Amino acid sequence: AQDRFAGKTILITGGAGDIGKATAHRFAGDGADVVLLDLNEPKMADVAEELKKYNVSVGTFRCDVTVCDDVAKAFTSAVEQLGRIDYVFNNAGYQGVFAKTDEYPEDDFQKVIDINVVGVFHILKAAAQHLRFSPWETPRANGGGGAIVNMASYAGVVGPPNMLAYAASKFAVIGMTQTAAKDLAPYGIRVNALSPALIGPGYMWTRQTELQAAVGSQYFDANPKVVEQQMIDSVPMRRLGSLEEVANGVAFLMSDEASYITGFNLEVTGG
Ligand code: NAD
Repeated sequence: AQDRFAGKTILITGGAGDIGKATAHRFAGDGADVVLLDLNEPKMADVAEELKKYNVSVGTFRCDVTVCDDVAKAFTSAVEQLGRIDYVFNNAGYQGVFAKTDEYPEDDFQKVIDINVVGVFHILKAAAQHLRFSPWETPRANGGGGAIVNMASYAGVVGPPNMLAYAASKFAVIGMTQTAAKDLAPYGIRVNALSPALIGPGYMWTRQTELQAAVGSQYFDANPKVVEQQMIDSVPMRRLGSLEEVANGVAFLMSDEASYITGFNLEVTGG
């Protein structure tokens, strides 16, 4: 429905990226005000410009999710500017390098964990505090404590080759989702994870086919075009998922249609 999220505000981290942007369009199209957080200010400004056509309020804030203070300031500024936050899409992430376990670089492992685990924790904590103490909330009996969706990945369900840090980080996201769902249930806040597998076209799809080809493992061909086909052939539905199909999953998990769903990991994988 056109007004499904009217009167609500969604905060999206990684709001300048492919999935963040598609989700921003989905929610703004359904009437929600949108807060974007990202490191990439020019790309964030472009997304904000695109969202003008929906006639909703949009705020953009530069924020490094690995810096706790940045996150706290962004939440404060967002509430000052937009008045409220109802939904938090904890989506900023980094894929890491592609390398076999015996060659995986330590500094990149740390970087992946900093962004995908510590960053997700910072946002989860700020979101929990914020949604829990939201000044506009009336008693929770009517079920309205807001909702959080953490971006995991199918790499957090089944570890893919050559992605040691990424797999570790996304398994962690699913674990944090289960614990946070239990911790926040008393406040009426639902916390779910979403795990896409192969999504495209987009930056991460192109990057992973090129980098998997370059590793030289038994799992993938050395030609990225062949790798694309190998990956698609591993999907029962024999196609990539679209960015919109990911955004549909986020919309479902945030919506009241998912009012009795929490601590769940929704796989958006084509089978
Ligand atoms: P993307 O690279 O297009 O977007 C990621 C965004 O996160 C970028 O705009 C980047 O600037 C931002 N970001 C990175 N580090 C940050 C930091 N420290 N602080 C703030 N922002 C930061 O990638 P995407 O495909 O849109 O991915 C979004 C999420 O979806 C990620 O968590 C990713 O792991 C997950 N995911 C993607 C796919 C896929 O195929 N695209 C599949 C499964 C999961």
